Amino acid sequence: MALLNGLFSKKKPRAVLMGLDGVPYTLLQKLVARGVTPNLGRLAEGGGKRFQQMDASLPEISSVSWSSFMTGVNPARHGIYGFMDLKPGTYQMFFPSYPHLKAPPLWDDLGKRGKRSVVLNLPGTYPARAHAGVLVSGFVAIDLKKAVHPPAALPVLEKMGYRIDVDTAKAQDADHLYRDLDETLAARERAFDHFWKDEDWDLFVAVITGTDRLQHFQWDAVEDEAHPNHARAMEFYRKADAVVGRLADRLGASDALYVMSDHGFCGIRSEVYLNRFLVEKGYLKWEKDPPESYADLSGESRAFVLDPSRVYLHRKGRYPKGTVEEAQVPALREELKALFLSLEHKGRPVIREVFFPEAIYEGPEFDKAPDLVLLTNDGLDLKGNIRKEAVFGRTHFTGMHTRHDAFLISSRDLPEKRPHIQDVHGLLRSALGVE
Ligand SMILES: [Zn+2]
Repeated sequence: MALLNGLFSKKKPRAVLMGLDGVPYTLLQKLVARGVTPNLGRLAEGGGKRFQQMDASLPEISSVSWSSFMTGVNPARHGIYGFMDLKPGTYQMFFPSYPHLKAPPLWDDLGKRGKRSVVLNLPGTYPARAHAGVLVSGFVAIDLKKAVHPPAALPVLEKMGYRIDVDTAKAQDADHLYRDLDETLAARERAFDHFWKDEDWDLFVAVITGTDRLQHFQWDAVEDEAHPNHARAMEFYRKADAVVGRLADRLGASDALYVMSDHGFCGIRSEVYLNRFLVEKGYLKWEKDPPESYADLSGESRAFVLDPSRVYLHRKGRYPKGTVEEAQVPALREELKALFLSLEHKGRPVIREVFFPEAIYEGPEFDKAPDLVLLTNDGLDLKGNIRKEAVFGRTHFTGMHTRHDAFLISSRDLPEKRPHIQDVHGLLRSALGVE
């Protein structure tokens, strides 16, 4: 049968992108060395040509990174700067997602060229909209009915017990989390399997997000071999690896496979509440204590932070109560840069680097960019909470994102230059013969 298929099917280049949300390059190296992930190990053979450390977007969060991947452009072109944002000219919060994406995702362009794409569980694609092929939205998909296109795919998913995500509200119960991760992954694979066979696709994108969820709640168990949950954490990577392996085994010689994460991960030593730091240093004042929302910003505030690491000047004309004049911007930015670089946790600098937007973003959405973007040192998790009463603290989370430690595995030799997640878009285009 395989021979007949080979003889009679028209040969067309196909590309597969598998995402393992949040899996760090350095962790994967260890998992491969220990034999926990033999399929990824096999795909990564050949060293740097096939398996590389990759940079995530800035900020290093899933919605920004995956949007950069799907569009191949930076946030000042695709318009997604964070998981939440303020509506222009207001203090009203909203959650930027698929409708706010200002640049076309790869599958829109492929559709115009007669190519079909199956896109499953990709963060930043909710609510689903039509493209040539199938879309099942990932995080922050809330309602499966709005997360599926075409609508005919909905009953298929419901019948197979598909789940959008694990229940993070119950994830502090480790027994519940591990069971939920397994069941969600199994349902996810049923969906991968169904659409792989059911659709005549050119591009197949399938993302596993359980890895990110596991690492947020159980990073200590992942990292520490003596941790009581270590074996269970390894078992989940084993299962995720098997899913990758089963899809990889179906590929033909003319198909290209990429496996990647959208950011790295590390353990948390402390969370860092940047708005509280600005309050203590006199740059931020709330009209109400504690504030309920950004609408409680006082007119005396000169700067504030949106999750996780975006600093905005309280500019006149941009915010209803803003007073920072354009002429004051350059000096205030420099002042804040020095201030953030001076912040220490137990004698160690918190901030690794401070970026001004013109150094990292360019494009028509540039006017929505933050005034400074902070990159933290590993272990110090930047947060934009507005109600914290101290600069440092801990919660139930044990793992945090890193920018520098995503990974990329490719079935074809990679360029020598260290990849950025945005570059994977171009790799898929060339694999599909679409320049
Ligand atoms: Zn995450």
